[in-house]
Amino acid sequence: MTAVDVWQDALTRISDLGEDAGVIPDVVESLLYPDALLETSLRVRMDDGSIRHFRGFRCRYNNVLGPSKGGIRFHPQVSRTEMQALALWMTIKCAVLGLPFGGAKGGVAVQPKELSPMELERLSRAYMRSMADFIGPDIDIPAPDVYTNAMVMGWMADEYEAIRRVKAPAVITGKPIALGGSQGREEATGRGAYICIRELGRRRNWQPEQMRVAIQGFGNAAYHVARLLQADGYNIVAISDSKGGIYSEKGFNIESLWQEKQKSRKVRAVYCEQSVCQLVEHVEISNDELLALDVDLLIPAALEGVIGADNVDGIRAKTIVEVANGPIRAVAESALLARGVTVVPDVLANAGGVTVSYFEWVQNRSGYFWSIEKVRNELEDLMTRALHEIFRIAEEEGRSLRNAAYVLALRRIGKAVTAHGTKEYFQTGGGKD
Ligand code: NAD
Repeated sequence: MTAVDVWQDALTRISDLGEDAGVIPDVVESLLYPDALLETSLRVRMDDGSIRHFRGFRCRYNNVLGPSKGGIRFHPQVSRTEMQALALWMTIKCAVLGLPFGGAKGGVAVQPKELSPMELERLSRAYMRSMADFIGPDIDIPAPDVYTNAMVMGWMADEYEAIRRVKAPAVITGKPIALGGSQGREEATGRGAYICIRELGRRRNWQPEQMRVAIQGFGNAAYHVARLLQADGYNIVAISDSKGGIYSEKGFNIESLWQEKQKSRKVRAVYCEQSVCQLVEHVEISNDELLALDVDLLIPAALEGVIGADNVDGIRAKTIVEVANGPIRAVAESALLARGVTVVPDVLANAGGVTVSYFEWVQNRSGYFWSIEKVRNELEDLMTRALHEIFRIAEEEGRSLRNAAYVLALRRIGKAVTAHGTKEYFQTGGGKD
């Protein structure tokens, strides 16, 4: 699937909702175009002395509710349209959680696994040099995303501060704790998804021990949701990464799998080439096979567009929790909903990350740092409030969970838009008698 398709999907979801959300047309219209886009060429000195140029992008989508906020992705597929789609979803996500942020996204078209650590640092700093006038603690605040991490955020914050000649930790979130990062940020996306699954489980009377779970992508977000689910008794029977997946009916020990992956860098190697190989019987499966497993819970936690028209008929999971951004194409979602599959949408399921990024920004601006308990409690509070509101709208108005989440977001953005005055207000003379 191309990035243009992802972008068309993102726009379709907004325009299809349109008047049905009960907001004035200006609101929908304002979400059909990004506020601003910056595309740059990043010049990076490689270890062998040569120079390479990489395409860098940042899209500030919408800032009605506050400065824009969104991750930075290092991936070969990164493109302008992909950034637009992801930035639009960030706008919706921040509004769903009631955060004082608009949406943004950035990235570099690069295969980071081919770079040395020093080349990666030079690329990260080059990105920030090219974006330093486009972002800022009150303008647009980046964070980690696919193939970027706390270390990369730390380099970028350092570069921004060197350019501005000030200490400005609030310019970026997801930093190492030693550089002003927040407790609990690394686990936040997974923990947020876990809170959603736990709530759904309560409503559906799930017995965790009877729940079989498949997870696509074993990165930061997936690891934390998997370990929290396992602690509750859920059985993680399949897991994958970009190189392929593994399946075991007995389930995997997530913690040891994660520790081994840190050494070998791929999950397939963990049980086949490393010392724990003999501990668990397993079979190797492809990412496509993982998506089609007959499981209770499917968690796509890698990239967008992995469930589309071509493979939706083969999906057998009863519930899908979108930890990745946009893993289900709009056309496939209609088919899933028609079959009674529950989809917990990305704009809710993975919103824990941006929520704790918000806490990090608040802590950086106030200069006062929170304990891990406070971070977890506040996350629990905001996620639960959003969850209840979305379930309420879904039940009262007969909507899917995604539809309800979008309605909630559009109504919140709508309130901010209409607070500046509506057509009716101005037509009637600005409220004068
Ligand atoms: P990550 O880089 O830590 O992990 C990505 C994982 O996906 C890796 O295990 C990688 O091997 C795997 N992967 C890549 N291509 C794949 C493919 N084609 N098939 C299967 N697996 C593949 O990234 P992350 O931060 O965990 O992000 C994962 C998803 O969660 C992304 O969609 C991201 O946008 C979303 N997300 C992340 C955060 C966050 O705070 N990190 C917040 C919200 C949403």
